[in-house]
Amino acid sequence: MVPIQMVDLKRQYNKIKPQVDAAMAEVLESAAYINGAPVQKFTSALQDYLGVKHVIPCANGTDALQIAIMALDLQPGDEVITPSFTFIATAEVIALLQLKPVFVDVDPKTFCLDPVAVEKAITPKTKAIVPVNLYGHSADMEPIMALSRKHNIPVIEDNAQAIGGTYTFADGTVKKTGTIGHIGCTSFFPSKNLGCYGDGGALFTNDDALAAKIKMIANHGQSARYYHDMVGINSRLDTLQAVVLNIKLPLLDEYIKARRAVADAYDAAFANHPKITVPYRAANSYHVFHQYTLQLEGADRLALQQYLAEQHVPAMIYYPVPAHKQKMFANFGGANFNLPITDSLTSKVISLPIHTEMDADQLNYIIHSVLSFLNQTSK
Ligand SMILES: *Cc1c(COP(=O)(O)O)cnc(C)c1O
Repeated sequence: MVPIQMVDLKRQYNKIKPQVDAAMAEVLESAAYINGAPVQKFTSALQDYLGVKHVIPCANGTDALQIAIMALDLQPGDEVITPSFTFIATAEVIALLQLKPVFVDVDPKTFCLDPVAVEKAITPKTKAIVPVNLYGHSADMEPIMALSRKHNIPVIEDNAQAIGGTYTFADGTVKKTGTIGHIGCTSFFPSKNLGCYGDGGALFTNDDALAAKIKMIANHGQSARYYHDMVGINSRLDTLQAVVLNIKLPLLDEYIKARRAVADAYDAAFANHPKITVPYRAANSYHVFHQYTLQLEGADRLALQQYLAEQHVPAMIYYPVPAHKQKMFANFGGANFNLPITDSLTSKVISLPIHTEMDADQLNYIIHSVLSFLNQTSK
C-alpha cells in the first residue's frame, strides 16, 4: 500500500507532471517571473469559474484577508465579528490592523458562524463580519447577508477552505462560496483544494469600486506608476504559481468529486457508530471536503490519534486551541468570550486523511484502523 498522508501532493503532481514541467520551463525561459501573462490568464479563468466580476490575485490567503479588511477603511477599535473556531489568520489580520476581533460562536452542526449569535454581537461599532466556510462547508450566508443589509455592515468571506463549493438561497439561486459577501478571500496554499506549489491567494468581488481599491492596496497603494495614493502592501501571485493554477483550475471539480467520494466512504463506515458524529452536510451547501472531520464522544481522542499514528495513519486536530484562547488575543479580551460550542468542538474534533489520490486500499485501511480502536476501547 502507498503510505497514507493527510494530503498526497506528490501523487497529484505526478498525474499532471508533463504539463506543469513544460509550463514552468516556459516561464523560466520567458523571465516574466512577476505579472507574466499566466497571471492574467488565471485571473480571468477564475472569474469565469466563480461567476464573479473581479478576481484580484495576491501572495497568500492571509494577505487576501488583510487587504480585504484594509479596503473597508475601518478605524482603530472598530469591531469585526468572526468565529473563533477557525485557522488563526482570520482573526490575526483583524488584530494586526488594530481592530477588535469579536468572537462569535458557531453552529454545532456546520462548524460555521451562527447567524443568531452574530446578530446578538452586533453593536454600533461593528464594521465588518467575516464568516469562514470551514472545512469546505458554506456558512449560512442568506441570514448573514440579511443582517449585513439591515445593519449596513460589509461581509468578507474567508473561503480559503471552500473554493468550488456552492450555497443555495431559499429562492433557488445557487452561488459559489466566496462570491456572496462583499469580498471573498481564498488561499492557494499547496494543501488547499486548489493549491499551487508555494504561496498564493486571491480576492473576489462584484463591486467595481472595491475591486479598484483592492488592486491599489495590493500594489503599494499605487494609482499610476510611482504615484501612491494610500498606504498599501506588496502582495502578488508569482507567474510560476499562476501556471500551476492554470493547469489545476480545470481539474478542480474533479478534485472535489474525488474528495467527496472519500467523504461518502467514510460516512458509510462511520455514520452509525455510537461514538462518532460524521460531518453534517446542509441541504443548501455543496460541501467540498477540504477536511473530513469527525466529532468523537466517549472516546479518547488523543489515544485514537496515537493509535492511528502507530498504524501509519495520520490524523490531525484542526484546531486544538480556538482563536479566543490563544495567547495572542490575551490583550484583546479573548478569554472573556463565552463560546461553549466552539470549546466543545475543540475538544471533540479529529480530521482524517482526505485528498484527491486516495485509493480503496488506503481508505479501507484507515476505516478499519479507526473502527478497531473505537471498538476495542468500548468496554
Ligand atoms: C489557509 C487558511 C488561511 C490562510 O491562507 P494562507 O495562504 O496560508 O495565508 C486563512 N483562513 C483559513 C480558514 C485558512 O484555512
